[in-house]
Amino acid sequence: MGYLLDSIRALGVTAKNIGRKPVTVQFPKVIRERQERYRTSFALLKDEQGEERCVGCLACERICPSQIIHMSSTKKESPVTGKKRGYLDDFTLDMTACIFCELCVQVCPFDAIVMLKVPHEPGYVREDLVLTMAKLYENAEKPLTWGNGTKLMEMQEPPKPAPAQAAAPVPAPAAAPVPAAVPVPAAAPAPAPVPVPASAAAAEPAKTEAP
Ligand code: SF4
Ligand code: SF4
Repeated sequence: MGYLLDSIRALGVTAKNIGRKPVTVQFPKVIRERQERYRTSFALLKDEQGEERCVGCLACERICPSQIIHMSSTKKESPVTGKKRGYLDDFTLDMTACIFCELCVQVCPFDAIVMLKVPHEPGYVREDLVLTMAKLYENAEKPLTWGNGTKLMEMQEPPKPAPAQAAAPVPAPAAAPVPAAVPVPAAAPAPAPVPVPASAAAAEPAKTEAP
């Protein structure tokens, strides 16, 4: 009897949901719109003069908790500024172990590495998830997130006080109360002389003067 009731109840749930639209999609054929803060892959950027921003300073490689960033670089003279600076020879980021902490973006002093906000293309072999230097520069053409090293570091700074508040004099701390004088104990009264009984005085023999 219990089984029959359970089956009827289950059929009721099926009948209730049979007309509803599915809540799942056929990923990757259908890709849902992502939230503004959605982050997926990475890109390396160039500056306005077309120079690579990355100088191979190793900051991102050192901070990465998953240790998945590897690079090598050489110092050369910049054709734009004429100064010596580092240029990447190789840069790889292995997405198979990325935890999307964004620390690599945050520490970059040149805003050279940023994240994308478009869904990462699915990989069918492990190598598809390794971002080479060429892939990273290609990704710079895709929609990027707003967060770069400068903006993310600004968010970490404590809020500055308002100017009026900053100019206000700092009140001096109140003086500590002087402790009350400790009362000196009154001197103990001298003991009263013990009266000599009259009978004893009379009994005392009179002193005789020397001849
Ligand atoms: S976001 Fe990924 S690559 Fe960047 S520091 Fe975190 S784990 Fe490393
Ligand atoms: S922190 Fe920035 S500049 Fe330094 S190696 Fe990484 S991407 Fe390049």
